[in-house]
Amino acid sequence: MILTINCGSSTIKYQLFSTDVETVVAKGIVSRIGEEGSYYEQETARGKVKELAAVPSHHEAFEIAIHNLLHPAYGAMADIHEIEAVGHRAVHGADLFIASTLIDDDVIAKLEECVPLAPLHNPPNLVGIREGMALLPDVPHVAVFDTAFNQTMPPKAYIYALPYSFYEEHKIRKYGFHGTSVRFVSQQAAAVLQRPLPTLKMVVLHLGNGVTMTAVADGHAVDTTIGFATFSGVMMGTRSGDIDPGLIFHMHRQLGLSPDEIERIIYKESGLLGVSGVSNDVRVITEQAQAGNARCQLALDKFAYMAKKYIGAFAAAMGGLNCVVFTAGIGENSPLMRQMICADLEFLGVTLDEAQNERAVGGKQVEIINKVGGKTAVLVIPTNEEKMIALDTMRLAIL
Ligand code: ADP
Repeated sequence: MILTINCGSSTIKYQLFSTDVETVVAKGIVSRIGEEGSYYEQETARGKVKELAAVPSHHEAFEIAIHNLLHPAYGAMADIHEIEAVGHRAVHGADLFIASTLIDDDVIAKLEECVPLAPLHNPPNLVGIREGMALLPDVPHVAVFDTAFNQTMPPKAYIYALPYSFYEEHKIRKYGFHGTSVRFVSQQAAAVLQRPLPTLKMVVLHLGNGVTMTAVADGHAVDTTIGFATFSGVMMGTRSGDIDPGLIFHMHRQLGLSPDEIERIIYKESGLLGVSGVSNDVRVITEQAQAGNARCQLALDKFAYMAKKYIGAFAAAMGGLNCVVFTAGIGENSPLMRQMICADLEFLGVTLDEAQNERAVGGKQVEIINKVGGKTAVLVIPTNEEKMIALDTMRLAIL
């Protein structure tokens, strides 16, 4: 079986897959590590468990996860050696990793090198890799990077028009995120359309709490909306998306806000929450907009407008468009947002079948929502980053 691990600063999420990656055998989380009220949760065919537990560090969290997987009543395996390989989510691989890789000391050293680029994410990823390798030293471990899929972007897409030395000396460039999700759904799209991926000019809209739009052409990413940090591109739940960078100087010099305050505002108080003043959740904002709240309507309009503009920009960058894919929480569940984004895009061959669009909710299966005969395929595809990690792990561990 294959174990996937997504290790954050205070949570470990894990899934156990059958070796052929067809079945999820167990799914669990250990949460609030090192905090008050820590707990674990796990679901297998034999049952669900959720308990409060003391989890002072990631070390104990890993022990709890393995203990739960082996539990005689609600676990999913009899012996730890049933785990044949482990796949780790790794957030930032900078330009050092263009694909998933088997982990060795050199890979760990390079991940350390990437810490300054992702100071919040890479350190817990590294803890997860070290703890996982200590518990399961005899099996291959694989790292799957969020940034890897975007490493194929051409320099004109990833370079910022700053003095070139900032790129050369400080690795300041566009990296992009959500690559594992985008790679998964773009492969699914090609399979559903029964066309080789390299023949598609695709825009993938990963619309969750974080939002990434990516142009995929010739089978790889050619441009993406998130850049160096994680707030550019389309507005998000609480992040602003593109703003005039000059505003940051203005907020500092004229409004007297400190860099930390500005950062908090841009990351935590902006986006759908900032504009609506009500919530970061599209469900709540939609309800309130329908009840007449003008700021909620503006938040939805702004979100759809920003996404629509990037579809146009990416179609221009790719020299065409024949597939649009919606995924993640909003993409999989909001017919209204999909309809608003796709409205008036007939000139790009995008037309929605209203009834199909309304039906495509719940994130259970792939849905084709373009009108029959529409020039551009419009698909709703549930993302599954864990499955992509497990598939890469199976491939690289040669199971
Ligand atoms: P994350 O980026 O945290 O993985 P998700 O992909 O789960 O986020 O997306 C979460 C967001 O999806 C929620 O904040 C909400 O705005 C949106 N969402 C979830 N369900 C629905 C729904 N039924 N209708 C509209 N939006 C939804």
